[in-house]
Amino acid sequence: MGNPRILAIPYPAQGHVIPLMELSHWLVDQGFSITFVNTEFNHKRVRDAFGNKVEGDDSIHLVSIPDGMEPGEDRNHLGKLTDGISNVMTSELRKLLKKINGFEDDKISYVIADVNMGWALDIAAEFEIPGVAFWPASAFLLALLFSTNKLLNDQIIDKYGTPINAERMIELCPNTPAIHPKNFLWISLGDFTTQKITFEYAKRNIKAIENVEWLICNTAFDLEPGALSFVPQILPIGPLSATNQLEPLTVSFWPEDETSLEWLDQQQPGSVIYVAFGSFTVFDPIQFQELALGLELSNRPFLWVVRPDITKGTQCEELYPEGFKTRVGSRGKMVGWAPQRAVLAHPSIACFISHCGWNSTVEGISNGVPFLCWPYFADQFIDETYICEIWKIGLGFKRDEREIISREEIKSKVEQLLNDESFKEEALKLKGLVMNSVNENGSSNTIFNNFIEWM
Ligand code: UDP
Repeated sequence: MGNPRILAIPYPAQGHVIPLMELSHWLVDQGFSITFVNTEFNHKRVRDAFGNKVEGDDSIHLVSIPDGMEPGEDRNHLGKLTDGISNVMTSELRKLLKKINGFEDDKISYVIADVNMGWALDIAAEFEIPGVAFWPASAFLLALLFSTNKLLNDQIIDKYGTPINAERMIELCPNTPAIHPKNFLWISLGDFTTQKITFEYAKRNIKAIENVEWLICNTAFDLEPGALSFVPQILPIGPLSATNQLEPLTVSFWPEDETSLEWLDQQQPGSVIYVAFGSFTVFDPIQFQELALGLELSNRPFLWVVRPDITKGTQCEELYPEGFKTRVGSRGKMVGWAPQRAVLAHPSIACFISHCGWNSTVEGISNGVPFLCWPYFADQFIDETYICEIWKIGLGFKRDEREIISREEIKSKVEQLLNDESFKEEALKLKGLVMNSVNENGSSNTIFNNFIEWM
C-alpha cells in the first residue's frame, strides 16, 4: 500500500493549473501521491513544452481526459469550453475514477477540485470519495460568486447575471474593493451567450461546493481580511507562491525561456522592469507598439514576455516598431514565456508591469515587488484595486482618448513608482505578512496543517 492518493483536477486554464500544481507539490511533501488531471489538449501543450519531463513520477502522476472540444477549436472561447466541460468532462472523469479505483492498491482517497470544476465533487460523492474544493484566485472573487443569489434578490442583476444598473458600483463587504458591474466575472468573459453559459456554470459549481468541509483558497488572511470574514467558509492556505518552492512545475503551456534568468543575473540589483500579461490577454497592435515605445522611453532594462499569441492574427515580429530592437539592444529582453515565479524572486527585478491576474499578483507580493497595473478583464480590475487602493503597493495607468495607454504615460508611471520608495516599502511589508502566514504557526500554515490532519 503506497501513500494516500489524491486526484487533483484544475480548471483547464494556465492560471488554474499552476496553483493547483503548486498545492500538489506541497501535498507530496506531506506524504501524499497525486493523480493530476489535465485536459488532453493542455496535456499535449505541456508535453510539447517540456518533452519527457512531463511524464511525472509516482508521486505526481499526470493523466488527461478530453475536454469535449475539437482539436482546432479556440479554448479561449469560454462559452464553448464550458459547454464542452459540462457535456463531456463529467462522464470522462467518472470513467477515469472507475478505472483507477478498480485497482485494489492505489485507489483515490480524496478528490481536490478547482471550484470552477465543482461538479467533480458531485462525482467524487458518487464514488464515496471525500471532496475538497480549491480556489486559486482571490477570496473576494469567490465571495462575489457566493453572493449571486443575494445580487439577484437585491435586484442588482437579472436571472442571466446582467446588471440592472450598469453603472452602479457594488460594495460587497467592508474592506474590499468596490466593483463595477461590468467587471462581474461572468460579464467580462465574452458575449451575452457566453455570459449566460458561464453564469449558469458558476452557480452550478457554487451549489456543488456549498456544503464541502474544506474550501481552501490561495490567499492569506492578511491580504483579504474583509472577504475572508464575509465568507468564513473560505479557508486561506496561501499564498502558495510564498512557500518558496521554485522547482519547475512542468505545467506551463509554453516552453519557459531559461535565458531570462541568465540575463537577469547580468543586470544591476533592483533595476529591471518585468512586463507580463499572463496566459490569456490579447493586445491590440497599436497598444503593443505603444508599450514597446514606452519601455524604450523608460531608459531602464526590461524583461518583456511576448507570448506567441499575444496579438491575434499578426506575427509578433512584424509588430515591433521599426528599429526598436536595435535601439534598445541588450537593455531589453523579449521572451515567449518566462519562468515567472523565479523571475519575480530575482534580485534584479525593480517592478512588475502586470495584467494583475491573481497568480501574478500573489507571486509579486511574495517577492516584495511593486506593481504597475494594466488589467484587461475578469478579476484583474478587482486585483488592481487591491494593489493600488488597499495595499498601496502600486499604481494604475490612465488610458487616453483612444483608450490607449501611451508611451509617455508608461514612462511617467515607471518613474513615479520607482522614485517613490513608499511603494517598495509597503510591498516589503506585505511580503513579510504573507511570509509569516505560510511559515510555522502562521495563519495559512495552521489551516494547512489542520487540513492535512483531517485528511
Ligand atoms: N506565467 C509564467 N510565465 C510567463 C507568464 C506567466 O510562468 O511568462 C505564469 C505566472 O507565474 C502565473 C500564471 O502564469 O502563475 C498566470 O496566472 P495569472 O493568474 O497571473 O494570469 P492568467 O493567465 O490567469 O490571466
